[in-house]
Amino acid sequence: MTITYEYEGALYVNLTNKCNCNCEFCLRHGKAQGSIYTEDSLWLEREPTRQEALGSFLSRDIPSYREIVFCGYGEPTYRLNDLLWLVDELKALYGEKLPPIRINTNGHANLINGRDVCPELKGRIDTLSISLNSDNAKDYTDLCHPVQGEEAYQAMLDFADEAKHYVPHVVMTIVDKDKTPQEIEHCKQIAADLGVTLRIRSFIDS
Ligand code: SF4
Repeated sequence: MTITYEYEGALYVNLTNKCNCNCEFCLRHGKAQGSIYTEDSLWLEREPTRQEALGSFLSRDIPSYREIVFCGYGEPTYRLNDLLWLVDELKALYGEKLPPIRINTNGHANLINGRDVCPELKGRIDTLSISLNSDNAKDYTDLCHPVQGEEAYQAMLDFADEAKHYVPHVVMTIVDKDKTPQEIEHCKQIAADLGVTLRIRSFIDS
């Protein structure tokens, strides 16, 4: 079971397969096609306990990484309580030597947890990378298929808007595949209106 893994100098953390979306571009789709993601066992046969996850961290030289990134095969905020517990444990152990902490998220943490979680991120999370994915709710829903339907789009925007008061770096991302220049400009404007940064990512074919 792969709980933590290295990628480009950062330590990535995989706590869950769960997600409320089913994005067309999700790397999880590679699972059924015998891709490297199947063989790499990022698909968890079961969720690790918080103690198992901490054990995986402690087997590594934590201060040597440039960043710690909670992402995984699923949406990490399904395990927000465990994620924040892990951050607290690591901060207690490593203090100033702890690398910055990032969460890669679909921005649905408040929907998923049924409460406003943003204040809980303060002092714990350095960067939130939120998938914007589209410049409107209909296209977003067609692309990401959130179980909550089109309301998930506005919930994601609201999450970004609020989180910036608690997290130093809030970045929204889009994947460039199938985006027109006009759509990209609109996404830039949405991010600017929210007061956050937009990052345009290249499509990774799984
Ligand atoms: S939000 Fe992320 S984990 Fe969930 S389906 Fe989309 S790409 Fe996959």
